[in-house]
Amino acid sequence: MPRAEVTLDKIVSLSKRRGFVFQASEIYGGFESTWDYGPLGVELKRRIADAWWRDMVMAREDVVGLDSAILQAPKVWEVSGHATGFNDPLVDCKACKGRFRADKLAMSQCPRKPSKHPGEHSDCALTPPRQFNMMFKTQVGPVEDSAAITYLRPETAQGIFTNFLNVQQTMRMKLPFGVAQMGKSFRNEIVTGNFLFRTREFEQMEMEYFCRPEESAAKFEYWVAERLRWYRSIGLREENLRARPYEKKDLAHYAAACTDIEYRYPWGWDELEGVANRTTFDLTRHSEASGKKLQWMDPDTKEWITPHVVEPAAGLSRLVLVALLDAYDEDVADGEPRTLLRFHPRIAPITLGVFPLVKRDGMPEKAREIVRRYLDRFPVFYDESGAIGRRYRRQDEVGTPFCATVDGETMTGGTVTIRERDSMKQERVRIEAIGDWIDARTRA
Ligand code: ATP
Repeated sequence: MPRAEVTLDKIVSLSKRRGFVFQASEIYGGFESTWDYGPLGVELKRRIADAWWRDMVMAREDVVGLDSAILQAPKVWEVSGHATGFNDPLVDCKACKGRFRADKLAMSQCPRKPSKHPGEHSDCALTPPRQFNMMFKTQVGPVEDSAAITYLRPETAQGIFTNFLNVQQTMRMKLPFGVAQMGKSFRNEIVTGNFLFRTREFEQMEMEYFCRPEESAAKFEYWVAERLRWYRSIGLREENLRARPYEKKDLAHYAAACTDIEYRYPWGWDELEGVANRTTFDLTRHSEASGKKLQWMDPDTKEWITPHVVEPAAGLSRLVLVALLDAYDEDVADGEPRTLLRFHPRIAPITLGVFPLVKRDGMPEKAREIVRRYLDRFPVFYDESGAIGRRYRRQDEVGTPFCATVDGETMTGGTVTIRERDSMKQERVRIEAIGDWIDARTRA
């Protein structure tokens, strides 16, 4: 059966209906493209973040973590170039009063002229582009003067560069090594939209990999391949992922290479993560401005090296959207249509549903026992209401990969049936073996 058509509307409505994502400030009519994560959404986001942290930091000897502040000295943003250069070209349409990014006009919609072609947009009387700085200004402390102005960080990366020496020295890191961090970033985007894809408050997962200049080209290739491999490892479909290398003319002036990892969204291929070879740009700028020597001394040659930096920068909130889009499917189960999310067991918000077949004969108590036994190993959910088929269907819709049913045989023989979401096959498994049975399928 071919895969069902996935639209953003279906994802937005399922997200609300099943407690993944709610509109922020909904009871007051909502607030421009801001979203709150519900009980299942926060679990999905955390599990994705945990998978990233585990594979990028814990499972590697060459990468350590960091959690730097959202508010930094304004100097950081002057030196990084964000204060002057983090601009998007803003155009107003005098006819429809809409505001657009001049470089993304092809994707934006003018109600008067719903054209997909930037050329045709000129009929709508667009103003010439003005540069609009995307950082959120904020005031620190009670005194309202310009000295008290700083910005909410527009990326997590700068906190890594400013801590280069702290991390390198305290952890005695040797090149090549990486520093990873995840957290909120803020950009006053001119045009937001497509649900979680582009918002003003969002979460990033970034890593700066410091290496010798002569090895940075190879490390860049390595990280592009590694990041694609990682997305497949959390279950994203091969056919929806691709790497798009930038042409030389489109690179930032300091970058030696950049490749976007793109996903096939309902509106077409678009960015999910950017991998860039930023050369010595950031460390050199911060060295010059701070007077601190942000370099590493090779202990063998005693030579001081300014490392190159390879940066895989991903959006966590954007990846939550991608996980939902990629997992969404519709099919027929036992003669009835079902909607399901085919989440990989590594990221599913609930790993195991546990159901007593009937609400008597000790089955609810036995099922609760199983829940308690596995609760601290993976997310487990107990459900005793409605027909078994209905209970399966509810778990399918939120992407639970496995459901265990306690029946008469459980009471006498100590086994449950585990039903697998995608194949709908059932297997009898001993209660004490459920954890290993699931672990084996989570790793696979
Ligand atoms: P774009 O060109 O789409 O504005 P970008 O190239 O400026 O994005 P980066 O600065 O490379 O984005 O940020 C790294 C990642 O952070 C992006 O690949 C994306 O996943 C995420 N990201 C950036 N801006 C937003 C946003 N406004 N909302 C959600 N995620 C974002």
